[in-house]
Amino acid sequence: MKACLLRSPARVETNPLDFTDVPDPLAQDGQLLVKVAACGVCRTDLHVVEGELPPRKSPVIPGHQVVGRVEKLGGKAGRFRLGDRVGIPWLHRTCGVCEYCRAGKENLCNHPEFTGYTVDGGYAEYTLAPEQFVYPIPEGLTDEQAAPLLCAGIIGFRSLRLSGIEPGGKLGIYGFGAAAHLAIQVARHWKVDVYAMTRDTRHQKLALDMGAVWAGGTVEQPPAKLDAVVVFAPAGEIVPAALKALKKGGTVALGGIHMSPIPPLDYNWLYQERVLRSVANNTRRDGEDFLRLAAEIPIRTEIEVFPLRDANRALNSLKNDAIRGAAVLRVN
Ligand SMILES: [Zn+2]
Ligand SMILES: [Zn+2]
Repeated sequence: MKACLLRSPARVETNPLDFTDVPDPLAQDGQLLVKVAACGVCRTDLHVVEGELPPRKSPVIPGHQVVGRVEKLGGKAGRFRLGDRVGIPWLHRTCGVCEYCRAGKENLCNHPEFTGYTVDGGYAEYTLAPEQFVYPIPEGLTDEQAAPLLCAGIIGFRSLRLSGIEPGGKLGIYGFGAAAHLAIQVARHWKVDVYAMTRDTRHQKLALDMGAVWAGGTVEQPPAKLDAVVVFAPAGEIVPAALKALKKGGTVALGGIHMSPIPPLDYNWLYQERVLRSVANNTRRDGEDFLRLAAEIPIRTEIEVFPLRDANRALNSLKNDAIRGAAVLRVN
């Protein structure tokens, strides 16, 4: 099969993904072989490709927002039928026995596998996934539209949950890429006012088009104090600005897997019971709840589609803030 292979991490400007032939994967017990239709391009892929996340498998096929159809069932796999449309997320599988898994916090599992990082992902014509960690994809969305829901959407949703935002509240969103353009639709559905802080003026415009009450630069103070904040941009210097914009007792939730160093914080910005917390992965429950809500709202995704062979170009565009909404690779 054709796949985009990362042999060793390097800056995306050097086009490190090699579009090449690799052996077809074989479904083992409990696994599905999925014929990939579309795969979303996530900022985490950029961190994997550029080595900001230390390599865990090499070479590796990136991609963890996979939409495709079940092509083959491994032994003992019976949850889906051949041809069913499924989505494969970042959380590839968990151990099921560690203290976090047993406590219902499988997102914090001590021995997790991650799609497109510790195991091969969806920048390929076929990929494998354990059937228990795969989602049915709701009707009404094309494969390309559905793909960004699987990480940008689910992580954005968990970030909103952990921010503690309530109906009628004022929410700040820092960085307005794929995750933010989905999270704002959930927030609006919950009757939340959204203030968007993002460096790129095109992204500020997208935020306003999608119902933000205000949009400005990343360190600009919004015109109102915020009940909660979600930070999607991977820039540590945003954290002090976000805390300064926050009401007493509010939460800043950091939605990314990687962030540049956070500058020293003046304790006064955090005092008055403000909370600063990260968001790590998601549980299957988050994914199921979000996909149900996405179908109910219904969520619309803004996408820019690239052919699989152009994955390097998609990653370069993402790095340069040139994507309106989410980048998606069309595969078959
Ligand atoms: Zn575990
Ligand atoms: Zn992701």
